[in-house]
Amino acid sequence: MSDCIFCKIAKGEIPSKKVYEDEEIFAFHDINPITPVHFLIIPKLHIASLMEADMSHQMLLGSMLAKANELARSQGLEDGFRIIINTGRIGHQEVYHLHVHILGGPEPLGSMIKRNAS
Ligand code: AMP
Ligand code: ZN
Repeated sequence: MSDCIFCKIAKGEIPSKKVYEDEEIFAFHDINPITPVHFLIIPKLHIASLMEADMSHQMLLGSMLAKANELARSQGLEDGFRIIINTGRIGHQEVYHLHVHILGGPEPLGSMIKRNAS
C-alpha cells in the first residue's frame, strides 16, 4: 500500500525509533506512548486489520506474538506486559495496517477496560 504510513515505516521511508526488524516483521516505539514503554509490532506485509486476516497469515501472526516476549524484555518489561490489537471501527483502530501494541512499565497497568457504571 503506497500511502500507508506503517508500510512506509517498515520500509524506512518514514523515520521511527526501531526496536527490531527481520524479514517479516518490524517493531518500533509508538510516537504517542500511553505507558512508560509502548511499542508496536507490525507485519511488513500490508494487512489492514485483523478483520482482513485469515489462516493464510497464520505463520506471520504467530511470529508477531512469539517475538513479543523477547522484544518486551529488551525494553525492560521483565515482569509482564499487555498486548492490544485494536480492530476496526468498534475496536477504535486508527491506523489501518495491522499492529500489535506492547504496553508496560514499572507499575501494573490496571484493569483492561473500565466497566460501564451500572
Ligand atoms: P490504533 O490504530 O488506534 O491501534 O493506534 C495507532 C497507533 O499508532 C497510535 O498509538 C499512534 O500513536 C501510533 N502512531 C501513529 N503514527 C505513528 C508514527 N509515525 N510512529 C509511531 N507511532 C505512530
Ligand atoms: Zn501498510
